[in-house]
Amino acid sequence: MTRRKIVAGNWKMNGSKESVVELVKSIQSNDAVDVVVAPSFVYLATVADLALASNLKVAAQNVSDQKQGAFTGEVSIPMLEDFSVSHVIVGHSERRSLYAETDAIVADKVDAVLAAGLTPILCVGETLEQRENGTTLAICNGQIDAVMNVVGAERFESVVVAYEPVWAIGTGKSATSEQAQEVHKGIRTHIAKTSSKAAEKVAILYGGSVKASNSAELFAQPDIDGALVGGASLDAAEFNSIIESAK
Ligand code: PGA
Repeated sequence: MTRRKIVAGNWKMNGSKESVVELVKSIQSNDAVDVVVAPSFVYLATVADLALASNLKVAAQNVSDQKQGAFTGEVSIPMLEDFSVSHVIVGHSERRSLYAETDAIVADKVDAVLAAGLTPILCVGETLEQRENGTTLAICNGQIDAVMNVVGAERFESVVVAYEPVWAIGTGKSATSEQAQEVHKGIRTHIAKTSSKAAEKVAILYGGSVKASNSAELFAQPDIDGALVGGASLDAAEFNSIIESAK
């Protein structure tokens, strides 16, 4: 089965109204690759309007698992649905480590995103200490299981997984394509133990210091179906080269 490549840009807490408009207008989508951009919530409406005119898809960087109510500072899925958002990043390591998002919270969020017919981009990954302890796959597969146990194998087919080693995020120190492929394959093999259909369908993106100079090699690996790009997605020329290398 050939899985479609996905290149997603996670803009994190960066940009201004002016700069995000310029950035989104400069991104060259193409028919061969799903290109997704994830602006801050406050720029979602602006970016989603501009994305409609191009072939870009828009993601939120986070979401509440609650529909409405007294949850100060939170954004609900029905709110996202007002703005042609198609994807939601869930369980990014910054959310897990800085905002105490547990596996259980992440699983509830993925469940809510799927229930709304949106695509969750579920982030998993090990810390440097865990890699050095040899527990990389146990950590990643544990984070996958926490979600699969809640949503079930059939619904998990619609999840996009992003393998992001914590030590590679924003450090300039990407995993090598061999290191990444080994983990992607390990995750896919693990999913196959529950459902071979889900294992075949699920796109597994790599994230962590992806740039134009390493993306082609990463994308050439059989189990790497694209990338979740942070820093390099803020530079249109660099991001366009990454998209180009996914064709
Ligand atoms: P980076 O971030 O590309 O800046 O390492 C990736 C991510 O956090 O999604």
